[in-house]
Amino acid sequence: MVIILFSSCEEWNIKTYNVPSEFQPYVDKFKTDAKKYGYNFDDKGLIVRFADLDNNIAGLAYYKRNPILIEIDREYWASASNTKNAHDIKENLLFHELGHGFLQRMHDNTVLANGDWKTIMCGDKLPNDRASNINYRGFRKAYYIEELFTRTNDTPAWSTLIPQFDNIDENVILQQDFSSGSDWTIGSNSLYESSIENGAYTFTTKTSQAFYVLNKGTLNTSNDFYIEVRLKASAGLDDSFGLVCGSFNDGNTPTSLHYFYQKGNNHMYIGESECLGPFIDLYTEILHPNEFNTFAIRKYNNMLYYYINDTFIYHNDLDEIINMYGSQIGFKIPGNSTLYVDYAEVRENSTGLKKRNTTELSVEKATEKKVIHWNK
Ligand SMILES: [Zn+2]
Repeated sequence: MVIILFSSCEEWNIKTYNVPSEFQPYVDKFKTDAKKYGYNFDDKGLIVRFADLDNNIAGLAYYKRNPILIEIDREYWASASNTKNAHDIKENLLFHELGHGFLQRMHDNTVLANGDWKTIMCGDKLPNDRASNINYRGFRKAYYIEELFTRTNDTPAWSTLIPQFDNIDENVILQQDFSSGSDWTIGSNSLYESSIENGAYTFTTKTSQAFYVLNKGTLNTSNDFYIEVRLKASAGLDDSFGLVCGSFNDGNTPTSLHYFYQKGNNHMYIGESECLGPFIDLYTEILHPNEFNTFAIRKYNNMLYYYINDTFIYHNDLDEIINMYGSQIGFKIPGNSTLYVDYAEVRENSTGLKKRNTTELSVEKATEKKVIHWNK
């Protein structure tokens, strides 16, 4: 979010520099990166401070002020601090506000071919009611920093990638059409009920509580794999549902569930449960509203590839912070709704393996960070 202030009354000296220690590493990084592109902001004044900002505003830049003033929302900062990707989230926010302040950049809501925002300077009213989340990490990050300082219109190669997986050696380790059994929990209590009806697995939540329904032990996510499910849900337009995989409250390993969720009729969320909101909120017209859609995730060579109805829509890298471990695969069902799963198939790159027999089934309260559309 950018605010233009035409005040002639200056309370501060133009050289005033007041940056609390929480923000200093990101300001330093910005100045260092800026030098690579021919800027030098070492002698510029700057004030950064915490504020309680309304309307889900994460940060504000008063960029016509001398020195520049940046306000960071206390609640947003605290939310970000509790997440696995705190560093990138905070750097993204500071770089956006410093982009307004030092680089005089305005908002730009151009979208790349793969649905990513062209720039971390996206903001204000976003097209198709998308969230402003930037997948500011991994192989994308260097591009976003270069774009910030150069406004390059070069098309990054990853934004036009169409991956081909023709010669994958993998074994089917789960194949379930729910005609006679289920690899996920069947049962009922005061919070949910699940059963097989008309050849589909159905899971109904009876309260506002969202659940994960999980199969543990079938898939070893440290191997490469492919998961494909066909599902639909009777869910509110603001709720999200879909596929999860990784680790949940395992005792041995901390929770890290990668997710691929439909939200409303045209949005897909891609993310990880311990990060702040999804990495990206994609808008797509490939989804059939209120009908079954096929969701698939492929892990290959430390990358995740996401598909809707057999069409590739996005990819992400795994790294030392956001990695993949655990053996859980399953679904997320929002509160007061029913999920229907027509079939599920899981294949794994594991020589000779047909099926593991150590499977445990469980139903767990969904715990991922609440999704808020933050403005900046
Ligand atoms: Zn902004």
